[in-house]
Amino acid sequence: MISEEAKTISSQCRHYAMCKIDFLGTGVCSAGKEYHYVSYYPQGRMDIYHALANDLIPVTERLIDIANTCTLCGICDKQCYFVTELRPMKVMEALKEYVDHYLKENREIAIMEEDAILVELKGVVGAQWATNDPAILVSYSNDPCPLTRMQMPRYVVMPKTKDEVVGIVSICNRFNIPYAVRGNGSSVMGCVMSEGIVIDMGRMRNIEVDRDNWKVIIDPGVSAYDLQKEVSKYGLRVNVGEPSALVCANIVCSGIFSLFSNAYGIAADNYINAEFVGNKGEVFNLNEKTAPNLFSFQYEELPSPGICVQASIRLHQATDDEEGILIPFSSFNEAVSFSRELSMRRIGIAIGILGGEYISTFMSPSSQLAGKLKAVFEDRLGIQYLVLVIGDKYALEAIRGMTDTIIDNRLFSMLILSLPKLPEDDWIELVSDFEGDENPYEVFCKKEMYPLLEAVLTPSPELLADAVDEDMKDFFITLYSRPEMTNLVWLNMFRVVSSRMGRYKHIVALIVYVPLDKTDIINAMNSEFKRIADKFDIKNDYGFLTPIDSGKRAVLEYDYYIDHTDRSEIERIQKAMVEVGEMIEGFSRSTKGVKWIKYIWYQGFARKESFLYT
Ligand code: SF4
Repeated sequence: MISEEAKTISSQCRHYAMCKIDFLGTGVCSAGKEYHYVSYYPQGRMDIYHALANDLIPVTERLIDIANTCTLCGICDKQCYFVTELRPMKVMEALKEYVDHYLKENREIAIMEEDAILVELKGVVGAQWATNDPAILVSYSNDPCPLTRMQMPRYVVMPKTKDEVVGIVSICNRFNIPYAVRGNGSSVMGCVMSEGIVIDMGRMRNIEVDRDNWKVIIDPGVSAYDLQKEVSKYGLRVNVGEPSALVCANIVCSGIFSLFSNAYGIAADNYINAEFVGNKGEVFNLNEKTAPNLFSFQYEELPSPGICVQASIRLHQATDDEEGILIPFSSFNEAVSFSRELSMRRIGIAIGILGGEYISTFMSPSSQLAGKLKAVFEDRLGIQYLVLVIGDKYALEAIRGMTDTIIDNRLFSMLILSLPKLPEDDWIELVSDFEGDENPYEVFCKKEMYPLLEAVLTPSPELLADAVDEDMKDFFITLYSRPEMTNLVWLNMFRVVSSRMGRYKHIVALIVYVPLDKTDIINAMNSEFKRIADKFDIKNDYGFLTPIDSGKRAVLEYDYYIDHTDRSEIERIQKAMVEVGEMIEGFSRSTKGVKWIKYIWYQGFARKESFLYT
């Protein structure tokens, strides 16, 4: 009764948790919203099916309930297709069929015995919110990280309050049982698995905007997307990471960085205070004189400072004259120098240098089209890098004084809505006809070309929808009729397309802080990342570079892509990571300002000055 197609789809779930936020306005899986455990969300159901297909878990009453609570509404198909092109509905249908068949055959339904630890956990959080049922445990046991392996916890607990977290930690200490804290996804770094208890913070979701104090107080279960949505109602903004990532977890792990970090900062710049439950069950906040000094930094791998149970996050004013633009470059050095100039002069709010791989993947609804678009940008238009800037009208005026080659939001929107036509020759030949000594991209950025481009490309949501599966066309037409879906400011604030980076294969992001005035070092590191990946036959590409600290430093991301279900690819990347580690350590020893994010792990509350200036 196992469908091979559904089994393959279920193995490909990336665990990015995009099915746990309403990023497309479709709503979220109703069962997930009601029952909260990951197993009730599409992501967990994929794990359950994969485990059944591999005989890893028995059928329990809970598993039957999980299958029954799926209404086959189709929301997850739209969400997952938008990000990864996967079709989870085939898995949802197969899971129901499996359970129906199992029950018809009157096969055994396993019953899990309670033990003393579970009884105590239930006493703290309520019977519904602590479990040792394998149908729940299994969705907390896996991660696409190539450096980790499956690990079933003994229990999963979902606290609702700080006091409940204290109670759980004290049980862990009394029974000497390890625990891990889980955010929305599975960290994709293997950090949220435990052989003991996994504490899922997904029920703690309060958001309290304190407008007068320019802060928003959040619980640990609040996602970046939901927080940004809430504060944007007040015309405000927060600096957050990936939309489905939980904000507190993000700060604890690596500190928050984004293209907005150019203006809003990183690490301790992003929060005002935070409250923790320490590993002895003690409660402290960072404004107490006796609290552990999390503003400091040690250049070594440290354990988590505790469970963050509340944080006050900085609010920033957004203005209604903000716009996003892209400035094309044919060379990396020129793009770096331009970005540094902007950052040093404090022009623009968000700044990032994107490569062809990123921009084409973000824009395209399919991997196939992304590949073609990348070739158009790089080979036909001569665009190797794009500097993305979000700024107010004064910043944009200043940039227009620095260059007249700009892809403004009107042109960007035109490109997205005519994507299926972009790989065609006609319009590129038209651009070529106007070329003199200029690069093709300089021609097509000219404002006087817009009417011509509009006439040839005929951009529309209907044209864009030609690139997607037949049954998704209507959905994409409605979706792309919404102006925000082609608005660079909105897309960067809410980052609904960034997880498309893991669409072709799971993405392993290699992140380093680098000195922005040493372009030779940045180039040398990019070349080394590429050399090592090529040596082990791993797909790789430059990711992005974001200036921070007024152009003195930058965040550099280089990406490796692997099929996390392919043993050979896992072995190759494991070997490659050893060499990558040695390479980064070498640069760190020889160049001030090169800092590997690995050492900032669990020190995300530190002041940036504590690690960037040593
Ligand atoms: S189809 Fe089932 S799993 Fe998917 S969103 Fe709807 S209820 Fe949830």
